[in-house]
Amino acid sequence: MSKLIDGVLVANSVKAEVKAEVEALKQKGISVGLAVILVGNNAASEIYVRNKQRACEAVGINSYKYLLSESTTEEELLALIEKLNGDSKVNGILCQLPLPSHINKSAVVSCIDPIKDVDGFNPQNAGKMLSSARCLLPCTPQGVIKLLDYYGIEIEGKNCAVIGRSDIVGKPMAVLLNERNATVTLCHSKTKDMKNILKNADIIVSATGKPRLVTADMVKAGAVVIDVGITRENGKLCGDVDFENVSKKASFISPVPGGVGPMTIAMLLKNTLKAAKLQNGEA
Ligand code: NAD
Repeated sequence: MSKLIDGVLVANSVKAEVKAEVEALKQKGISVGLAVILVGNNAASEIYVRNKQRACEAVGINSYKYLLSESTTEEELLALIEKLNGDSKVNGILCQLPLPSHINKSAVVSCIDPIKDVDGFNPQNAGKMLSSARCLLPCTPQGVIKLLDYYGIEIEGKNCAVIGRSDIVGKPMAVLLNERNATVTLCHSKTKDMKNILKNADIIVSATGKPRLVTADMVKAGAVVIDVGITRENGKLCGDVDFENVSKKASFISPVPGGVGPMTIAMLLKNTLKAAKLQNGEA
């Protein structure tokens, strides 16, 4: 039976660190602020934004919410971002995805000042990440690395399989694991014989949104399995991994919910703090 990776526990420890540092900055007269922009009425996005705001409040970060109607134009959204780029109270800017189809996501992501880009999606930050330069890193992959570190799971020299190659999870996940000296195979929907690749992996990170994609026969005994996927099935949240059976084989496994999800928000808070420190010469 595997050991459960408790994302709530680790996220709480990250949040406690952030809270203490935010408090220390306040003592120096520096407040930390995050602007969250939501365009349109996506029910899931509304919940994410609310959760992010509550998390900010809990650690003493000021949050500024901008709820824009579905009919907001790209020009209007870019104008708001430009305004926030120039607002010294705002250290981090997050524009909740997905955006309505008439708005160009790349233009929005590129408009956010890289030093306020707490999602780490701006191409300047993505480029810096690729060249191992200091930058704001995407929250979910950063959260996965934190989970591995917290549980003392060695990454260096390990065979890692990442499933999913999105710009926000899979690709940066592969880069961060490589940065930690793992040998990484990035699998996706066109990968042939994925089972063979997974069977050879010491660490598997799955981020596809396909429930029960990773089954016990694909996993090596003693492997570490991190499930990033979140899908709602019959009102219940589930991940990419057949948890019941894989947990009998893996050495460590993260559950859904309660695994990677809480880490994403914790790392957003950490990124906001880091942005504030960078902007105030405190980093
Ligand atoms: P995406 O849809 O952009 O990408 C999915 C990826 O999965 C693609 O690269 C695709 O090639 C791959 N894929 C699909 N079917 C596959 C298959 N059968 N075999 C191998 N690869 C396959 O998704 P995303 O934005 O990266 O999100 C992935 C999942 O992670 C979703 O369920 C999402 O909700 C979840 N997610 C969770 C968090 C969190 O905080 N826990 C954060 C972001 C995303």
